[in-house]
Amino acid sequence: MARYIFVTGGVVSSLGKGLSSASLAYLLQSRGFKVRLRKLDPYLNVDPGTMSPFQHGEVFVTDDGAETDLDLGHYERFSGVTAKKTDNITTGKIYSDVLRKERKGQYLGKTVQVIPHITDRIKEFIKHDTSKEDFVICEIGGIVGDIESLPFVEAIRQFSNDIGKTNALFIHLTLVPYLKASDEIKTKPTQHSVKELRSIGIQPDIIICRSERPIPLNHRKKISLFCNVDIKNVIETVDVKTIYEAPISFAKEKLDVQVLNYFKIKSKKSNNLTPWKKITKITLNTKRHVNIAIIGKYVELKDAYKSLDEALTHGGISNNLKVNLIRIDSEKLKVSEIKNKLKNVSGILIPGGFGKRGTEGKIEAIRYARTNKIPFLGICYGMQMAIIEFARNQLKIKKATSSEFDKSGVHIIGLMHEWEKSGRKVKGTDKDLGGTMRLGSYDAILKDKSKIRDIYKSRLIKERHRHRYEVDISYKEKFEKKGLIFSGLSPDHKLPEIIELKNHPWFIGVQFHPEFKSRPLNPHPLFSSFIKAAKNHR
Ligand code: GLN
Repeated sequence: MARYIFVTGGVVSSLGKGLSSASLAYLLQSRGFKVRLRKLDPYLNVDPGTMSPFQHGEVFVTDDGAETDLDLGHYERFSGVTAKKTDNITTGKIYSDVLRKERKGQYLGKTVQVIPHITDRIKEFIKHDTSKEDFVICEIGGIVGDIESLPFVEAIRQFSNDIGKTNALFIHLTLVPYLKASDEIKTKPTQHSVKELRSIGIQPDIIICRSERPIPLNHRKKISLFCNVDIKNVIETVDVKTIYEAPISFAKEKLDVQVLNYFKIKSKKSNNLTPWKKITKITLNTKRHVNIAIIGKYVELKDAYKSLDEALTHGGISNNLKVNLIRIDSEKLKVSEIKNKLKNVSGILIPGGFGKRGTEGKIEAIRYARTNKIPFLGICYGMQMAIIEFARNQLKIKKATSSEFDKSGVHIIGLMHEWEKSGRKVKGTDKDLGGTMRLGSYDAILKDKSKIRDIYKSRLIKERHRHRYEVDISYKEKFEKKGLIFSGLSPDHKLPEIIELKNHPWFIGVQFHPEFKSRPLNPHPLFSSFIKAAKNHR
């Protein structure tokens, strides 16, 4: 039977619950256990798919096509376990499930209530499909004391009673602030947060204290005493220089050992920190660097391109380089400034995006990369913009555009059903690929002797998608005649998946999001190759 570890947060948000959970998952896994990570989000959106990256950061897409919280990205990157649709749930989803059942009369006339109906649905979610796991780590979003998180906290309290207290462990992550003026570390916020948790019936078993500085023994003792937690289970997590140090630092504090002790489980082997030590060393000590420009709409918020930033860093690790990300706001990028802003970069990347704003700046930047032979990677929207640029400037289709943001013009990018309606039987009739998003993992077949085939070293690849619009395949020949090759296609040959330029050192566009599958211990070949090309550029 699986053991369940619940991770709650206190005092303030953004303390790194996701990273702590992911690090613990890695440590347990490297000791030979099977671990699954789950996230319970208290907001009312049914999924984060509709939330602005400005507010909530990136939307992470799973293989099975779920739009999830970005913490699932951390989970995958650290634990290597592929997340599933069933690993992220929100209050919105819980309520919509319960209300749907209510409308169908499935509660048999009962009054539908938070307890037990909402809490039962939460418990069902936690338990679903976990029988083969050794550990299930469940993170509760937000902090204890939020109105929204109450039903989740109540549900995990009930859950631990249902399965027996020895099978469930509560970890509480709090802030232990350092006050500069009085040169003091304060434990009071932690005491209050634990008090709050206990008032709803949960006694934490382990407290992880996030702090700017190491926490002296007498302060740990105080936390142990006031919060009723064994001193060995007061774990500190001091700010690390790189997130790759997190598993190392938790191992030093014996977090994994304490978890196993709690459950009275013997470790199958010792944990393996070697890979993290290796990449921490590279990240911290490498002096050489490349400058990569990311031109996008959401550059102001760091988390908006979380997986992408990570994937680029991984590409740097595999080339023994530091990657400096130069974030350029596409909406503010004036065509006249492009040369000046991009003159010191060794690679240009246009990430995924939606809507019209900022398109002209992106298109001009792509032209600059193409004509000046600067390594270029276009992801999803970035590939679509590269197609538009090439159509306008090389195929001389001046009005080339996407129906996503321009209803007139020549729609080289559009919805499949739009082309079908206009009587051109170019594509199949997969209606569900028309008006809705194409989400999750799809196959692509790579062309022989292409650059992309060389990079992936495989004919068939599987990558994650999140888009609604497609490049019209009927233009393939025209593009190829001018040197832009459609080097990856869907297995039915109807959807362009990858484009590359013939007479260019490195110019690739992909309709999918390779960044979601890159991992620090296993960098994605496309990013390794892109960074290598950038390294060779100057
Ligand atoms: N807006 C584009 C589409 O829907 C691209 C989406 C993306 O970049 N993820 O096809």
